[in-house]
Amino acid sequence: MKKNKKTQIADELERMRHTLSHLLAMAVMKKYPKAKLGIGPTIEDGFYYDFELPNTLKEEELEMFEQEMRKLIKKGLGVLGREISADEARTTFKNQPYKLELIYDYEKEHKKLTVYTIDDFTDLCKGGHVQNTTELDPNAFKLTRLAGAYWKGNEKNNMLTRIYGVAFKSTSEIDAYIKKQEQAQKRDHRKLGKELDLFVFSELIGGGLPLFTPKGTILRDLLDNKVWKLREANGYKRVDIPHMTKKDLYEKSGHWEKFKDELLHVTTREEHQFVLKPMNCPHHIQIFARRPISYREMPVRYANTTKVYRDEQTGELMGLTRVRSITQDDAHIFCRVSQINEEVEKIWDIIEEFYKQLDLDVHARLSTRDPATPEKYIGAPKKWEMAEESLRKIIKTKRGKKDPEESKGEAAFYGPKIDFNATDSLGRKWQVATIQLDMNQPERFDLTCINEKGEKERIVMIHAAIMGSIERLLAILIEHNAGAFPLWLAPVQVAIIPVNDKNEAYVKKTEELLLKKHIRFETDRRNESLNKKIREAELQKIPYLLVVGDKEKKSKTVSVREREKGDRGSKKLEKFLQSLKMHE
Ligand SMILES: [Zn+2]
Ligand SMILES: [Zn+2]
Repeated sequence: MKKNKKTQIADELERMRHTLSHLLAMAVMKKYPKAKLGIGPTIEDGFYYDFELPNTLKEEELEMFEQEMRKLIKKGLGVLGREISADEARTTFKNQPYKLELIYDYEKEHKKLTVYTIDDFTDLCKGGHVQNTTELDPNAFKLTRLAGAYWKGNEKNNMLTRIYGVAFKSTSEIDAYIKKQEQAQKRDHRKLGKELDLFVFSELIGGGLPLFTPKGTILRDLLDNKVWKLREANGYKRVDIPHMTKKDLYEKSGHWEKFKDELLHVTTREEHQFVLKPMNCPHHIQIFARRPISYREMPVRYANTTKVYRDEQTGELMGLTRVRSITQDDAHIFCRVSQINEEVEKIWDIIEEFYKQLDLDVHARLSTRDPATPEKYIGAPKKWEMAEESLRKIIKTKRGKKDPEESKGEAAFYGPKIDFNATDSLGRKWQVATIQLDMNQPERFDLTCINEKGEKERIVMIHAAIMGSIERLLAILIEHNAGAFPLWLAPVQVAIIPVNDKNEAYVKKTEELLLKKHIRFETDRRNESLNKKIREAELQKIPYLLVVGDKEKKSKTVSVREREKGDRGSKKLEKFLQSLKMHE
């Protein structure tokens, strides 16, 4: 099969990174001949290698290893691979206990063993290397950091030292990569979230359970209202549900069987077993099923912004992107088979409109089941095929006949979905919205409507989240905008900065007018210098600063400073307010 250019480049890079991980092992062995070697795979952007070392490494040593690796590259060393028997491998690696363990594992699985030799260093490896180190650019890699890592990822095993490296084909590519990393670090939502006072974590409450400050809550509410307005116009009704349920609900829905270990359990004093909800669908189903529904009432659309809970492991938690309490802007549409297309297209329109307002490009792809792992899904294959085919058709219609990108194995356990990726200002892709077609839960819960003939007719369900997780979307938006939110979304839109405390009456009047116009503002009455107050308001990325002093009071104006643009001169307050573009 002919490979396309993109995979060829990926393979080439893969070989380079693999070779570099061997060179790293050589550099480390030179300084620490007694080091025990773990594994050294390639990863996104680079590679790593795990070592058991006689002492703790210092960050400075990374540069030494880099120097040594560069020397090795310049020597023009060949990379030679060959197959080896398990017995020979055991002799070769007799002083390397971790390698011996790997040899044992491979033998058990009847896998072939191969070794690769560079100069006098031989490593156990599946292969994929350059033929000679001259193919590597000695300045296109960098050792970036140290971390502790348990052997085989198991905390019962020894903790090894992991050295991470990044590597590219050319110096210009690694320079661009490092620049982008620096940009991303400056925009890190955990850092900006603190500086802009948007959210906080508490040791007493626990990891992965973010608390939102007044400013963070404004952001959440504005986003949620925006979604609700779009849904309201499309016939959705709001519902509300408790955050826990008896396990019976999930036994019926199939969640129990698939996610038992990931659910958070709650036992009452009467020893009744409850769980915190990881999804809202079965709850909403119970509302829909409360009475018979006529075809005339279909589709029934429920919207509910609410929290779900996942038992994430502590080590996996990350800022707002990986949390234990997730706020979903969830919606479920109960409709007839004949209504699927129209409903999915309407949701699609809402998604496009919403992300346009956030200045994010979204891209749709189809997530299907993997027929090789049927145990991961519920429902008959025939229903799955039908559901997948109807989503595929909709994507084609929406995207002008182009075949959709498909990810096999990414479907929900109850049905296929259309997932939307947003690309941020640094070119990073994030999964955001999702539309899921479900023919299986209606079956399990026996959901029907009464059709034109007075008969019960099986219906389908569409699960739709526009934001997905509000926490994740906030993280994306903070980093996408580097904290400088568009005016309609800024928690504080205007800062009033009095020059002194002599014009309090005029400052008050200014405040009243802003209040009347529903502008979100803050007044900095501290006894600080004007420059300091302006600087701090600018660091808060507030879109407009209004400086009010004697001159402004006299001329009944305000001096306007605009974010990124600086001084805009003095204006009558009404004029300034009229000029504000509150929406896209
Ligand atoms: Zn290798
Ligand atoms: Zn759902």
